[in-house]
Parts: sequence; C-alpha cells; structure tokens
Amino acid sequence: MKKHKIFDLHADLAIALGRSYRAGERNIFPAHWHARFEEGGITYTSAASFFKGDESWKQMADTVTMVKEEVEASGMKKILTAEDIDENQTGTAYLMTIEGMCGITEEPEEKIQWLYDMGNRIGSLEWNDQNALATGNSGDPARGLTELGKRAVRKMNELHMIVDVSHANEKTFWDILDTSELPFIATHSNAKALCFVERNLTDQQIRALASRGGLIGMNACNTFIHKDKDKQTAAYLAKHARYIADLVGVEHVACGFDFGAYYADEKSYDIFAPEQAQNFIKGLYNEGFSEQEVYDIACGNVIRFLRQYL
Ligand SMILES: [Zn+2]
Repeated sequence: MKKHKIFDLHADLAIALGRSYRAGERNIFPAHWHARFEEGGITYTSAASFFKGDESWKQMADTVTMVKEEVEASGMKKILTAEDIDENQTGTAYLMTIEGMCGITEEPEEKIQWLYDMGNRIGSLEWNDQNALATGNSGDPARGLTELGKRAVRKMNELHMIVDVSHANEKTFWDILDTSELPFIATHSNAKALCFVERNLTDQQIRALASRGGLIGMNACNTFIHKDKDKQTAAYLAKHARYIADLVGVEHVACGFDFGAYYADEKSYDIFAPEQAQNFIKGLYNEGFSEQEVYDIACGNVIRFLRQYL
C-alpha cells in the first residue's frame, strides 16, 4: 500500500502543547509529536485552540498566543496564504484554527480580526456550548446564530477565514448556510446515517454543505465512528468516507481526525493517534477508492479548497 501525505483538519494541539507548556517545557512539538506525525504521514496539521464555553476573551487570547509561540518555535511551516501550501511539503506544515469563540461577547469584528492577525485561518463560533455568537450541540435546539454571530460570520467571510460547523447544532448550521457567502466546512464530523450522534451530519446537511462547495473531515473519535466497540476502527471510518463520497462526491471528503492521543495516553483502537493515520488510508483502499481518490481524501481536496479560498 502506498503511504499518503495527510492534511488533518482538526488536531487538539493546544491541549497537548498547553499541558507540557504549563509543566515548564518549551519547543514541545519536536520533542513529543514530530516523529509520530512523520510515522503517520501527517504532513499538514491543524493547531486548534480549543474553548469549551466558559473561557473569557483574555483566556482565549492567552491560549492563542501560547499556540502561536509554540508552533512558530517548532520549525513547522506556517500556512497563512494559498501560496504557503506546497504539494511537495516535507516535514510538517500547520494551519492555526479556533474551536469555539465563547470569549467573544462584544465587538466580534475586532476580535475576529485579532484571531486572524495571529494566524488563525479556520474557526468555529461554538464548541458544544451556547454562547453569545452561536449554539452548539448541547444548546437549545431552537436557538441558532445570534445577531452577533451573523456579524462574526460576515467578518470571517471578509477575511477569508473559513467557518467550521462541526460543533454547531442544526439550527446554527442552517443559519450559517443562510449567512455565509463563502463555502464552509465541517472539520471533524462523520455521517449520522452510519453513527447517529449529535456531532455527525444528516444526509440533508451533507448535501447542503457539498452544494456550497464545502468539505467534511472524517473524525477518528471512536464514539463518532460507530456505537459498537468492535466497529470503532479505521476500516469503519473509511465506510463514512465511502458513504459521503457516494452521496455527494469524493471531492467533499477530507480528514479531521481529532485524535484522542492529544489528551489521553492509552491506544484503545487502531485510529487513536497520529502515528496510526495510515490505517485509515488502508481502509480507503479497501473501500475501493482509486489511488487518485485516496490522495484527494488524504490531502488533495483540502489543498484545492484552501488554495481557492484562503
Ligand atoms: Zn471538536
């Protein structure tokens, strides 16, 4: 089997880096993660700054500043513009992203401009929480984007900072569809038809997102792959890719593994950590995808999308 380069749209690097950072370590990525990324073929990653819903703007800014400082010190290549994406990339390149913007309770334009200026290029307005901008999966199902959230989406459109709908509740998803003038993506979500959990997408959502030219990153979190433990595998995750490709076209399928390895140590299944990423590639071949299609899912679709929209 050919080893493929992977673009991972969602990695909780802020959690992993933050843990070591608070313990006094610096230059953390090369010491703890680089070799594991190389083994898994993860050539492009996302350094997500994650906020669960109760963080202030100051806490958000501190985390983003720490992530920026650490990834810049790591020697990885930063992706800020379309020109920064190199198909022949060696070593690791990274994109800074935001997961949850609960700290923004006023002046969304200024705050989003700051996040952008710090290097963030993808962002979700919410995690599972309900905040001043939007409503996540655990929030009121009747509540979607707020007026402040619509302003945030418009500002992101203006900057070409990509909107991520992975944690949005359904109402927020449809409000973003109505508000965003640019395609948006679900960085780490699977198909609800194969695993019925709130974090996965309905067929209707998948069709709507694809009709606008968006991408869906396949999420390796076990409980979003299948309810049964014995089907929480890389092979079954590849079935989500197959399902979505059959529904809307392979050009909308990507990787957004959200590996548990960033916050836990044990390897309980075969797609838990970056060094296991090629197990998913093997699963794609077993699902009958051609070499070109596997390349597209592994990194080609994200490269095309970012070159067009960054
Ligand atoms: Zn997430």
